[in-house]
Amino acid sequence: MRTPLIAGNWKMNGLGDDARHLATAVAQGVAGLNGVEIAVCPPFVHLDTVRDRVGDALSVGAQNCADAAEGARTGEVSAAMLADLGVRYVILGHSERRQYYGEDDALIAARYAQALEQGLRPILCVGETLEEREADRTESVVASQLNGVIDRLDTSIGLGDGVIAYEPVWAIGTGRTATAQQAQAMHAFIRQTLAARDAGLAERMRLLYGGSMKAANAGELLAEPDIDGGLIGGASLKADDFVAICATAA
Ligand code: PEP
Repeated sequence: MRTPLIAGNWKMNGLGDDARHLATAVAQGVAGLNGVEIAVCPPFVHLDTVRDRVGDALSVGAQNCADAAEGARTGEVSAAMLADLGVRYVILGHSERRQYYGEDDALIAARYAQALEQGLRPILCVGETLEEREADRTESVVASQLNGVIDRLDTSIGLGDGVIAYEPVWAIGTGRTATAQQAQAMHAFIRQTLAARDAGLAERMRLLYGGSMKAANAGELLAEPDIDGGLIGGASLKADDFVAICATAA
């Protein structure tokens, strides 16, 4: 049995007061929910304050980590620094990082390895653009993003305690969600791809859907057998909406 995970990606939103209020409201709203793990991923500068606000009610995640352990990497934040703050998850390879900052599989794999080394749980994002879907390249793109990271990791550790988020780029922040059938088909494909390497890993790995998930469509998506939770962008910025999604997964 895989415990569902609902993770909120706050992206680059909110000043200190916003982060404090949102964290407090989410922690209060999810109190008493069982059978679901919940995480919020604020910007780096709010991690400490959010960690303090949420207590044990939920986990805190970051939105990236450095590809090296320490030293001359101006502007980066190391996995050890995150672990030191009590951070549990780290989103890696988000399509916005791939698109706006040119992150490729090699860099994402190096970040992933650093995260595992410090005991963080990476949430590895994969997903195709609309152009790629229309060209019937969805599976090959996702397989290549997945293998492009796995093949660079230490084979004795592999993906470790990570999580994979399937996020079709055309559904992120657009209000256009993949249908439950489209999402399930890709989650099943990802699980098969993992199973070809390690059946046990494929069985225990949590696969999240991300892309305009909200309270109104969460039930349908989460009912699919290979969808083990959600990575939520826009809807994670409103406590009531995010809590409603968490309640659907509980
Ligand atoms: C995301 O950016 O990870 C995401 C899923 O965003 P949204 O829910 O806003 O589509």
